[in-house]
Amino acid sequence: MNLGFRIKFYFKKRMPELSVLKWDIKSIFYGYRKKKHVIGEPINLHGKQHIHIYPNIICNMNCYFCQNKFYVDKLPKFDWVSAVEWVSWLNRMYNFHHIDINGGEPLYYGHIVQLLNTLYKHNIVLYTNLPKERIHILKEIHCKMSNIAFNVSYHPLDEKRDIAEFCEDYKKIPKHLNPSLHVINIPEISYKNIRAAFVKRGVFIEVLDAIIPTEYNKIKENFKTVMCKSDMDCIAPDLTVYLCTGLMLRKINGKHISEYKFSNQHELCNYYGLCGICTSQRDIKL
Ligand code: SF4
Ligand code: SF4
Repeated sequence: MNLGFRIKFYFKKRMPELSVLKWDIKSIFYGYRKKKHVIGEPINLHGKQHIHIYPNIICNMNCYFCQNKFYVDKLPKFDWVSAVEWVSWLNRMYNFHHIDINGGEPLYYGHIVQLLNTLYKHNIVLYTNLPKERIHILKEIHCKMSNIAFNVSYHPLDEKRDIAEFCEDYKKIPKHLNPSLHVINIPEISYKNIRAAFVKRGVFIEVLDAIIPTEYNKIKENFKTVMCKSDMDCIAPDLTVYLCTGLMLRKINGKHISEYKFSNQHELCNYYGLCGICTSQRDIKL
């Protein structure tokens, strides 16, 4: 490594990506969206940090720790709705910090360009594996009316591209989408070697996402009744809202968004034990 590269690496390792800083700064103005920006009948989210939306649950990966796939034979199918329908609900919501767009792989949702380009004054975080066959749509996403961050995940076990090809694809993401790279840290693979391979190609890893052990995903019967404040309300592809992903993936206690009451209080749940990996650390009173 030459000296210039070492200096760049030294600072890059310690500084967040410019794209992350840009999103963070802009998010101060867009966060906790104001009621005055609402289009239509307002829906108050009572100061929630985020809302999770799943325009689809189809994915191009097959991670062994995936909650979506863990009980895949038991998982229900979801219908999906158009971007116009999504936007008509999301642009009515206010008093929450940001929208997380999850999946599955959100770029497989056929109306993703329209969805992102018509959301109004939102902070948006989109989680993607950057499927190669969908990269061509990125140039159509301008997202001019909102603040967007593309959180790209690299899955060392499941990714079909080698790191060189992945880096080439990563560099095709337009700058205004504020991309940053997350690597899934799994025990089977040496992170040190992966990091070196990315750095060599001028791509820096923003976050190392440690996986939660598979054991943690397993359903723990008998279920207990608890009061839960998961802050993980998620909206399924058919616009049904659930308290958390664990319940959504089993279609338990969902209500259509037109009937759902968002709250920032503890809610009764009879299914403690189904909690997903993302929700398992939340505020639960036994
Ligand atoms: S990328 Fe995410 S949704 Fe897809 S299989 Fe892996 S953990 Fe599941
Ligand atoms: S399944 Fe777990 S995380 Fe989900 S609402 Fe019930 S207690 Fe909360």
